[in-house]
Amino acid sequence: MASNASSGTRVVNPATEQQVAEVAGCDAAQAAAAIDRAARAFEAWQRVAPGDRARLLRRFASIVDDHIEELAGIEVANSGHTISNARWEAGNVRDVLDYYAGAPERLAGRQIPVPGGLDVTIREPLGVVGIIVPWNFPMPIAGWGFGPALAAGNTVVLKPAQLTPLSALRLAELGRAAGLPDGVFTVLPGKGSVVGAAFVAHPAVRKICFTGSTEVGRQIMAGCAAQVKRLTLELGGKSANIVFADADLAKAAASAPAAVFDNAGQDCCARSRILVQGSVYEHFLELLEPAVRAFRCEDPQLPSAQMGPLISAGQRATVESYVDGAEVAFRGTAPDGKGYWYPPTALLAHSTQDRHWREEIFGPVVSVLPFTDEADAVAKANDTEYGLSGSIWTRDVGRAVRVARGVQSGNLSVNSNASVRYWTPFGGVKQSGLGRELGPDAPLAFTETKNVFISTED
Ligand code: NAP
Ligand code: MG
Repeated sequence: MASNASSGTRVVNPATEQQVAEVAGCDAAQAAAAIDRAARAFEAWQRVAPGDRARLLRRFASIVDDHIEELAGIEVANSGHTISNARWEAGNVRDVLDYYAGAPERLAGRQIPVPGGLDVTIREPLGVVGIIVPWNFPMPIAGWGFGPALAAGNTVVLKPAQLTPLSALRLAELGRAAGLPDGVFTVLPGKGSVVGAAFVAHPAVRKICFTGSTEVGRQIMAGCAAQVKRLTLELGGKSANIVFADADLAKAAASAPAAVFDNAGQDCCARSRILVQGSVYEHFLELLEPAVRAFRCEDPQLPSAQMGPLISAGQRATVESYVDGAEVAFRGTAPDGKGYWYPPTALLAHSTQDRHWREEIFGPVVSVLPFTDEADAVAKANDTEYGLSGSIWTRDVGRAVRVARGVQSGNLSVNSNASVRYWTPFGGVKQSGLGRELGPDAPLAFTETKNVFISTED
């Protein structure tokens, strides 16, 4: 669908503001025709022997592995991701495909003891799955949907964000090269209000996986209700990084910048609220300052880059609006000139009512606020509409467990800022989302359970 036609949407390198491609978006009729093709492809794909489906997914993984450098290069140019992140992201697609290649042969149902016969449950694929991807992590978020969906025997239509369609378009070509039949995995660039809306409206699409803003997620949920369509939502976050006085403060402070500024803060798991116990608040800020100043925001092609530009001028203006009028504690540096650059910035919050403390900024801005004791930490951490991720820093094991149980969030890490591992379930509570992706159970979320009773009566 990529073309040089002048009617396409301009795709821009956010580090240079140079055009890197023009991509023609699908209109509503093209989207509907592609969904119809995916529905026809489903008839045969669901009957491909499990071992053969597994082999195709392994081959897809292997071809992605052969193209890591190319895919990473596309993401650096299209999304401004650092080259080290972009390599990880392409590798994540490979790993997710490899992991779920184990699923087709293991999608076992159950035999449940009942009187008078044999009762079995069968895991059947849903049909066509529609995946709507945002611009912040184009490759991994696509793979978390299409890997387990294909493994479970569904066909997939995928809409990348208009700002970042290039890596998904290339992944679709690699899937074809791996031998996926026509219509099994189709990438449809275009507007959310056209192509994404077509996924929601078309009755052949039996499940939507949406990642993006809470506002659009709500609209999609309402749209799915009309057809009782299944739905997974991965929405925004405002995750807390809770630092107790007994923690390894040097480690907590040294790792805090990457936990929020990675991907220029455009990460739904960003630990953008740092809560520090009052008795060590000043000391923690002294440790945090050099770490923030040293965070390398530079040309994302450089191996040393820790952060590139923001995705767009609009996103930068949004980020600026949160910093204007707030109390800046300290900040790092960013390149001048072309590109949507914004330096890593630490703000002091004065209450949980501060706008920069409450709202998802989706940029390289972190807010710091003191707390008094464990109960105050949990109360402040939970004083948000979101609940996606978060970190707890303490050497007290009992406290770590109590706080991990107390914080309302789908994913937490203790003495670590890790969020996403493909082996474990990922997703949010409250306004951060609905359902889980990844982990051993993900393929089940792309199946229906059918129960069959077979009478053994003569
Ligand atoms: P968004 O509007 O929710 O976009 C996410 C995806 O949904 C894009 O592919 C978009 O297509 C599509 N979409 C938009 N409207 C749609 C509709 N009516 N029906 C179906 N699909 C639709 O997010 P955004 O505008 O890019 O970002 C806004 C804010 O959302 C960010 O600043 C951030 O706070 C949050 N966000 C969160 C995440 C996350 O990982 N949880 C990711 C991205 C953004 P288009 O390309 O046409 O817009
Ligand atoms: Mg939008």
